[in-house]
Amino acid sequence: MNSKSTDARLKRDLRRLFRSMDFVSRHPALKRDTAEARRLAEIYQQLALAWEFLALQCKHRGGWRKLRDGESACKVCGTIRGVKEQCLLLPREGKKTIGRRALPNSKRTFPNRKAATMVNDTIDFHGAKLNVEVLNPHRSNSRWFRKHDWTIAADRLVRLEEGGIGVRFDSHLVTVELRKHKRGEMPPYSHFVSELPRKLLKNFPVMLQFDKRRRFTGLVIFKPDRKAK
Ligand SMILES: [Zn+2]
Repeated sequence: MNSKSTDARLKRDLRRLFRSMDFVSRHPALKRDTAEARRLAEIYQQLALAWEFLALQCKHRGGWRKLRDGESACKVCGTIRGVKEQCLLLPREGKKTIGRRALPNSKRTFPNRKAATMVNDTIDFHGAKLNVEVLNPHRSNSRWFRKHDWTIAADRLVRLEEGGIGVRFDSHLVTVELRKHKRGEMPPYSHFVSELPRKLLKNFPVMLQFDKRRRFTGLVIFKPDRKAK
């Protein structure tokens, strides 16, 4: 369906809905506390729900109308400008887009991690878990660090978890975790490949990839054998 006909249909549906809402809200039965009034109030709630659903489909491209209290409302769906919508509407077919690629946007150091957080959002997508966290510079929350007045740098963190394997992207590293580090356990050793003896390297099913000019292009890790869960 092209977007023009979608817009027209949406406009028509909303107009109809607003007429129904007006009709219900002005019904004379509402003046008394009767079973009928309660039924009408119930219907009004249902219509409001339908309004919310239709408004999610609106791209708010039809312009804004000034309200008396200085706010503006979308001319098509009546959504107040700048109000955060509680739900998202995603198409079943095709590519789904949620948000934009946010990057840290402040030089200022925020007092704590929460205040510095621009985005922290997680989606479970067909069994793969994805989390994006974008942080401005902030003071460390940990008491030890705070005593020493440590500042945590701005960062964009992306974590993906699939089948027990985690991949984490930050400003400087791509980290792959095949085996979760448990609390209280000793943290894993870290070494550059060139530092390790051949004998030890044989334990690691990793292939480094590079091109003709010997530029590093990536790596392949063979998944460890896992008993099916
Ligand atoms: Zn709208």
